[in-house]
Amino acid sequence: MDYISTRGSAPSLDFEGATLAGLASDGGLYLPAQWPRFSGEDFAAMRGLSYVETAVRVIAPFVGDSLSEDELRDLCTQAYGRFSHAAVTPLVQLDHRHWMLELFHGPTLAFKDVALQLLGLLFEKFLSNRDTHLTIVGATSGDTGSAAIDAVAGRAKIDIFMLHPAGRVSDVQRRQMTTVLAPNVHNIAIEGSFDDAQALVKRMFNDADFSSRFDLSAVNSINWARLVSQVVYYVYAAVRLGAPEKPVAFSVPTGNFGDVFAGHVAARLGLPIERLIVATNVNDILYRALSSGDYSQGTVTPTATPSMDIQVSSNFERLLFDVGGRDGRALAEQMKGFEATKAMQLTNAQREGAAHLFSSARIDENGMARAMRWAFDAADMVIDPHTAVGLGAALQTDLDPSVPVVTLATAHPAKFRDAVERATGVRPSLPGRVGDLFGREERYTTLPGTFDAVTSYVAAHAVPRHG
Ligand SMILES: *Cc1c(COP(=O)(O)O)cnc(C)c1O
Repeated sequence: MDYISTRGSAPSLDFEGATLAGLASDGGLYLPAQWPRFSGEDFAAMRGLSYVETAVRVIAPFVGDSLSEDELRDLCTQAYGRFSHAAVTPLVQLDHRHWMLELFHGPTLAFKDVALQLLGLLFEKFLSNRDTHLTIVGATSGDTGSAAIDAVAGRAKIDIFMLHPAGRVSDVQRRQMTTVLAPNVHNIAIEGSFDDAQALVKRMFNDADFSSRFDLSAVNSINWARLVSQVVYYVYAAVRLGAPEKPVAFSVPTGNFGDVFAGHVAARLGLPIERLIVATNVNDILYRALSSGDYSQGTVTPTATPSMDIQVSSNFERLLFDVGGRDGRALAEQMKGFEATKAMQLTNAQREGAAHLFSSARIDENGMARAMRWAFDAADMVIDPHTAVGLGAALQTDLDPSVPVVTLATAHPAKFRDAVERATGVRPSLPGRVGDLFGREERYTTLPGTFDAVTSYVAAHAVPRHG
């Protein structure tokens, strides 16, 4: 399987190369040159399969020759063996129409674990035959950081530098990162927003001098291997709700557009998805882009859903490429314009291409709290604020009522205890698997959000590239 860049001028890579590179050298994102297709029989044959076996079937065509099927199965078995629920991502019914896909049973309590537990193992596997020391740099609005750190802490040939916006992640999120004291883990609190942190990371990749000194890689959802592991749970859930015969809709609490793009990939594979609902909070660039074609960056408003407090959604570029004619050169121009003016208009092809599958809803803090209370009253379930944004959007849908609507439950409610308590009066307790989080020592460095400050720090602590 060949991977090409959305900006048309980086060399194409195989799965191993795309995984290790993260971002393409022309600033674009990697996508398969062609989508694999699954038949109705292929999906029907997944009906009784475990999560791990489903993962092997869904991921294998994307891996190509980079891993044997047995190697892939072995990595999936290890990654998903660390989840606390035997179904890995259980599907829970809310009422006659609404379902919840619980993605938070991994070690750090958010859906990021589904992708990152596997990515950590893929890195280790691919590095074992190379003379390379990987320097992972990433930006997190909270959940990617803890999941990535858990996935790579203590692994050989990897250092991880994780930037989070100082004071803008929850105490549980911060401690899940900063209490991991493995010497290859470097936590940096940036004075600024998540978008500032993400822009710094992108600049490190695009800076020819800096990026030539280290073997940089990414764990943000710009890394293709992350997205492909998220395709699995769309298939797993849809097959349980009647695919391939019956269509399913998904409502996805969205920030960087990674999770919902995995749903788009599932649809490209042939899974009958009736609709993907992109649920945003008041940081609504995607809502505006999908409803009126206006992709323009506003200022970030902090909310009770910090993992969605984003005004530039990196993976949206993948959708614009895939539905807008797959013209890398034109997209590179369009993105350059966006980077210069912080605004762009989608082309007609992009708007129409997206409208086949996507709709969007913007759920403000009141709507979020209402959905949280609805889940509590109607189904006796305590849900996290991000999940509540997704559910709020699902409850508003105008889809035919015969289509089941699955809201992706992206975090465990205990990760955002204060917001849950404000909305429902219930304070969820942390599950036992996180252990003594509040008794442990924290270690992190606070830096101003400037390129010089961050690159000096990374350069002083990273292992330079050989030769
Ligand atoms: C990361 C995250 C999101 C947003 O997912 P994207 O893939 O960035 O769109 C939503 N909810 C939670 C809890 C998250 O951690």
